[in-house]
Amino acid sequence: MRRNRRIKILATLGPASSDRDTISALFQAGADAFRINMSHTNHELLNRLVGIIRSVEAEHGRPIAILADLQGPKLRVGTFADGAVQLANGARFVVDADPTEGNTERVYLPHPEILNALEPGHRLLLDDGKLRLVVEHVEPGRAVTRVEVGGKLSNRKGVSVPDTTIPIGAMTDKDRRDLDAALAAEVDWVALSFVQRPDDVAEARKIVRGRAGVLSKLEKPQAIDRLEEIIEMSDALMVARGDLGVEMPLEQVPGLQKRITRAARVAGKPVIVATQMLESMINSPVPTRAEVSDVATAVFEGADAIMLSAESAAGAFPVEAVATMNRIAEQVERDQYYPGILHAQRSEPQSTGADAICAAARQIADTLNLSAIVCYTFSGATALRAARERPRAPLIALSPVLATARRLSLVYGLHTVVGEDAKDPNDMTEKACRSALDEDFVYPGQRIVIIAGIPFGSPGSTNLLQLAFVGEGGTAH
Ligand code: PGA
Ligand code: MN
Repeated sequence: MRRNRRIKILATLGPASSDRDTISALFQAGADAFRINMSHTNHELLNRLVGIIRSVEAEHGRPIAILADLQGPKLRVGTFADGAVQLANGARFVVDADPTEGNTERVYLPHPEILNALEPGHRLLLDDGKLRLVVEHVEPGRAVTRVEVGGKLSNRKGVSVPDTTIPIGAMTDKDRRDLDAALAAEVDWVALSFVQRPDDVAEARKIVRGRAGVLSKLEKPQAIDRLEEIIEMSDALMVARGDLGVEMPLEQVPGLQKRITRAARVAGKPVIVATQMLESMINSPVPTRAEVSDVATAVFEGADAIMLSAESAAGAFPVEAVATMNRIAEQVERDQYYPGILHAQRSEPQSTGADAICAAARQIADTLNLSAIVCYTFSGATALRAARERPRAPLIALSPVLATARRLSLVYGLHTVVGEDAKDPNDMTEKACRSALDEDFVYPGQRIVIIAGIPFGSPGSTNLLQLAFVGEGGTAH
């Protein structure tokens, strides 16, 4: 089974999609990877979902990536005596360290470190940015604010503080417990929410120790300020447009999406565009024209993956949402403007052996209009460099390591296959040709390009490029 597109689809699981039939249908409709949102998933459900995904994977014989998304330091206000209050524009409102129930004058902010970090002029955005407070002055344990945009504020609504660098890491105690559970369940990726500094990512890497890829969600202005360093520290990135559009002016999000995807592509790190891509499909079997255009934009930008959130997790049409994304992606990748736009954003190979060989393979595949590039990869590093080239030809990533194949399923253009490593150069050619044929990428008589590293079985030595004819039954000649 192969897809007819290079960009990948990441579907979030939730109440609308936690049974085996729906997860299987999502996979068949086009989901290459699944996101489990730890904000809404307990450990028992996490294990059950991972079990179902692995059984769907076994049934179809295709590696599937699982991403566990950690909640991160999501800030919330306390509760109110009456459940909610109405804040008037221009009124004074205090956030403080007093855990008693709030009223129209004040509310508890159960994050003392935030109270200490607030400064006059800093904004507090409440309930996804619907209300806005500005700090006028601070005293120990409290901040006095002016209501700039008022409205109804109810119990435990979210708070974002875009102007404040939060003096805590990207992981809470809950995140640490969730991370342990996710690693024990052998997920392929963990996502960190509200990353602010490269150190946040370093802290997570120390715990993960290579057992999963570490993905940084870019949703804080502080992270944008240190974008290059965070990309460097991370295995993958997400343009988390939901919170990014709360923390920063909405109109800056499209430009930031371009900046982040380009920077990630230059670094050769997978990048996912996320949130509200087909939002109206939560309630409707067809998306708006603007949403179709938004998905198309991410495809034209050469992102590695596009994501569904509530559309697949909690909507009425989860399978239709995946199928719609799949159709848009297939169409855009066939569009006459797609190769030119993608090519214009391609960056020069860096000066490593792997980059030089991958760039040459792409060039050969383009010149000869080949139907596949087969890439032997142990850790996945070579396949990532090959994907960075954004070749027109599909990339088959052959790995003896199942975890590598699963992790790479989120990456642009890679059709991952688990198989024994090659024993010698002849075996390498044979196996590459056979898998290109078996996986429906070529016909006998066509040629493929092979990328590998000799000696086989040792990671990190991409040094071989071969052009091979696929014979009858897959044997090379
Ligand atoms: P979330 O992250 O759905 O976990 O909030 C994505 C985003 O903020 O866009
Ligand atoms: Mn978010």
